[in-house]
Amino acid sequence: MGEDWLVVTDSQDVGALSRLLPDAPVTAMVIGDRALAESAAVAGVAVVHWIEPDEGVPAEAYAGAAAASILASSPRLVAATALGPASRAVLGALAAGCGATLLSGVTAVRDAGDRVEVTGGAAGGDVVATYAVPWPLCALVVPSDDVPAPDPSVLVAPLAATDSPVRVTARRVSQPSGLADAARVVGVGRGLRSKADLDLVRGLADRLGAELACSMPLADDLGWLPRDRFLGRSGQQISPRLYLAVGLSGAPQHLQGVRGAKVIVGINSDPGAGIFRASDYGIVGDLYEIVPALTEALARG
Ligand SMILES: Cc1cc2nc3c(=O)[nH]c(=O)nc-3n(C[C@H](O)[C@H](O)[C@H](O)COP(=O)(O)OP(=O)(O)OC[C@H]3O[C@@H](n4cnc5c(N)ncnc54)[C@H](O)[C@@H]3O)c2cc1C
Repeated sequence: MGEDWLVVTDSQDVGALSRLLPDAPVTAMVIGDRALAESAAVAGVAVVHWIEPDEGVPAEAYAGAAAASILASSPRLVAATALGPASRAVLGALAAGCGATLLSGVTAVRDAGDRVEVTGGAAGGDVVATYAVPWPLCALVVPSDDVPAPDPSVLVAPLAATDSPVRVTARRVSQPSGLADAARVVGVGRGLRSKADLDLVRGLADRLGAELACSMPLADDLGWLPRDRFLGRSGQQISPRLYLAVGLSGAPQHLQGVRGAKVIVGINSDPGAGIFRASDYGIVGDLYEIVPALTEALARG
C-alpha cells in the first residue's frame, strides 16, 4: 500500500493534520512560503516537500503539480483541511486521479486493514458518524488551533513546479465584517426560507443597531451571506452583549461561536430546539410573525 500524505497550504493546517495521524510517518506537501514549510516539519512527518509559489501566482495554480507528485507514490491516505483553496483543489484532483473516496468534516481515521474507518460530522453536523470505506482516502479534516512544535531534524525539500500561466492581476482587501466588536448581533439560520427574506431580519438588526450574522449553512451552502458572517467553531467567535438567534437550531458547533455573549435570545418555531437550552430568553413561534412584530415594536420606541 502507498504513502500517507498531509497537504498544507494554511498555517492552521498542521495541528489538525498531524493530530489525525499521530503514529504514522507521513509525507507533507506544502504549497506556500518557507515559514509554512518549516512549520510543517513536525514530529511524525518524515519529509516535507515544498512548492514555493512564484511572485503573483496564487497557490491553487500549483494544485496540479502537487497532486501529480503525490499520485506518483500511489497514496493510501491524503489529508488536508478545507481552509485554503489550494488544499481543496489538490484533494479534488487526487480523488479524481486515483479514484479515492473524498470525505469532508473528518475528525479521525482508523486503519481497519483493507478498509479505513472514518469518523466525522454527518447530517449537517448534528450526528457524528463512522464510515468504513476502501483505501485510498482523501480526507478534508476539521481545522484546529493546535500548533505543534517544529522538529528541525525533519528534511524540508523544495520541489520544482513548472511555470503557471495564472497571474494575480488585482487585489482588493475585503472590509472587516464588524462582528468582532459589535455589542449586538442578530444571527439567522436555515429557518429563513429565501435569500430575499434576509431583508426582514436585516430590518430588525438595523432597528437594534446590531450586526447581521448567520449559521454556517447560510454562508457555506447557500451563499446568502459572506463567509466572514458565519459564527461558530469553524467561523467567527464573538462576545456581544446581546445575541439574537433567529430560525437557528443552536447546533453545538454554532454555539461555540457565541459562548461569550452576555445575553442570548432564541426565536424558533420548535419548542424543543437546542437554541432554547443555550438561551437566556426564548420566543417560540414563527419568525415570519415575530421578527416583523419586534421590528415594529422597536420602531414605535
Ligand atoms: C465539523 C463541523 C463544523 C461545523 N461548524 C459550524 C459552525 O462553525 N457554525 C455553524 O453555524 N454551523 C457549523 N456546523 C453545522 C452545524 O452542525 C449545523 O448543521 C448548523 O449550525 C445548522 O444551521 P441552522 O441552525 O441554520 O439550520 P438548522 O439546523 O436546519 O435549523 C433551522 C432551525 O430553524 C427553525 N425554523 C424553521 N422554520 C422556522 C420559522 N418559520 N420560524 C422560526 N424558526 C424556524 C427550525 O425549527 C430549526 O431549529 C458544523 C458542522 C460540522 C460537521
